[in-house]
Amino acid sequence: MAKKQTQAFHSLYPDMVGNPNGNADSDLAVCRVCRMTYVSSVPEDVKTHAEEHARLAQGSIPKVAREMLKAHGWALAHGTEIQMNFNPDDGKLGVVYGWWMRARYQGASPDDFDEYMALHFRLVDSIVAGTDGNDTPERRATRRWERFAG
Ligand SMILES: [Zn+2]
Repeated sequence: MAKKQTQAFHSLYPDMVGNPNGNADSDLAVCRVCRMTYVSSVPEDVKTHAEEHARLAQGSIPKVAREMLKAHGWALAHGTEIQMNFNPDDGKLGVVYGWWMRARYQGASPDDFDEYMALHFRLVDSIVAGTDGNDTPERRATRRWERFAG
């Protein structure tokens, strides 16, 4: 049973949600983790989004990551090129979710899912941007889960 959060994901990690319609006053949000589009000012939407994260925290794989896995699997099975219907953020999600699955396998708590995903997305962003280092804020923020790596 996941712990009850007192704040919604988009409030805790505003950089993990985008604004798909580009209107700064809009409450429309799309989540980098689960890719759900929802209205952050509608409690039922926020609840549905939290329930999706609770399922993903247990090990259900986000649809985009699942589709990437299948695309790679089919390409290897047929000996063909991988169809590139994915964008760089899809790749980042695949990396972060792969780390999450390893962490879960090694004993990380599903209660850590939202924080783990947000902080590791920031780490992957820094790696891709070329700003990663041994003691960056992103590395310090994710250090507590290093025992679940490898
Ligand atoms: Zn989400």
